[in-house]
Amino acid sequence: MKNLVTHIGGMPVPQLAKNFGTPAFIYERDVIEKRIAELKAFEVIRFAQKACSNIAILALMRKNGVVVDAVSAGEIYRALKVGYTGGGHPSGIVFTADLFDEDALQLIREHKIPVNVGSPDMITQLGKAYPGAEVTLRINPGFGHGHSRKVNTGGSYSKHGIWHTDLEECLRLGNEAGVKIQGLHMHIGSGSDYHHLSTVCDAMVKAAKRMGAPLKVISAGGGLPIPYHKEQARIDIAAYYGLWDKARKSIEREVGHPVSLEVEPGRYLVAESCSLLTQVRSVKSSGGNKFYLVDAGFDTLIRPAMYGSYHEISIAAHDGRTIGNAVDTIVAGPLCESGDVFTQEEGGVVTTRKLPEAVVGDYLILHDAGAYGAAMSSNYNTRKLAPEVMIQNGAAEIIRERQTFEAILQFERIPKTLA
Ligand SMILES: *Cc1c(COP(=O)(O)O)cnc(C)c1O
Repeated sequence: MKNLVTHIGGMPVPQLAKNFGTPAFIYERDVIEKRIAELKAFEVIRFAQKACSNIAILALMRKNGVVVDAVSAGEIYRALKVGYTGGGHPSGIVFTADLFDEDALQLIREHKIPVNVGSPDMITQLGKAYPGAEVTLRINPGFGHGHSRKVNTGGSYSKHGIWHTDLEECLRLGNEAGVKIQGLHMHIGSGSDYHHLSTVCDAMVKAAKRMGAPLKVISAGGGLPIPYHKEQARIDIAAYYGLWDKARKSIEREVGHPVSLEVEPGRYLVAESCSLLTQVRSVKSSGGNKFYLVDAGFDTLIRPAMYGSYHEISIAAHDGRTIGNAVDTIVAGPLCESGDVFTQEEGGVVTTRKLPEAVVGDYLILHDAGAYGAAMSSNYNTRKLAPEVMIQNGAAEIIRERQTFEAILQFERIPKTLA
């Protein structure tokens, strides 16, 4: 039956649940390595680690020749921890943001990390802190794309990037500040809309012409989609690469020297590698609707609550029995919050899913939870962060322990007057 599974990454689901508890994020190493291999036409694959920043995942990226993007001081710290360094071509770490904080500026200076700036003010600030810094400009071409208003990355209401008409002013600021502006970046996230993508490529070529000889690197950004709905088509990487490579070649003719092409996927490399394993703790009916209540909530996986995102769901029997019927079901979590529902659409519209008839104790798996899953989880309702587990060569190993209550409370203090 559809949506019925017995194994994750070749391991029996009940055994994984017994060994690691639920909820747990279960990653499959070979899925990540397959996605990396698919992108090898790009000279440089730069993993947007914000999608999944566990240091084991970063170490796996490094082992496969993938470099990383960091969007905060903390992400630089993670990258350094697994052996990435700043500087060199391509730099192991690039910092991308629309503003600096002092922690980030300090690490950037100390480790000579190139910066992809998203606001003109950053150029002057960087020049003061770290003269000679290598810089790329993240350009907002004046239009965007995105599956939700919250993920739109361009246009006049986007906080991201430098407005395209400010390019010359930024080059002037760069000269004045003594930093080396040598690249252009556009993260619009066209997905598999190739017509839209070619518009982005054209905007890149136009910007590159205005920049001229100093240009050494262009970045296509991220936004490569994965088929969250199993009937969705997979992105045609060759077509995607083809459009960008054509843009690169036209830019090379313009500037008169080689230009390197980076791609910066987050989701594409990790989303499909991970199953969020949960246990069904209650099966109930309310006014004709059937509910499966599971032990993960939006503290564990926030995408459905935040964007109305769709995740495929499967059931695994806890006792090896055969499950027959499929029933329309609402899947929800334990949080004291009505939005804590995994089957919902954008705008918080609750929907049902046809799922095998589960009983309390069965396992419910939310698929494709590797991107913006563990990385976006929280302690809301004072719930422990779920463990992360990696399966490789037929063995499962913990890569983040389940958090403890002591760890959650460790930085809280009671004033003397209340003790
Ligand atoms: C978030 C982000 C990415 C990755 O986006 P995905 O949709 O996960 O591929 C890449 N580049 C930048 C600058 C980002 O902010």
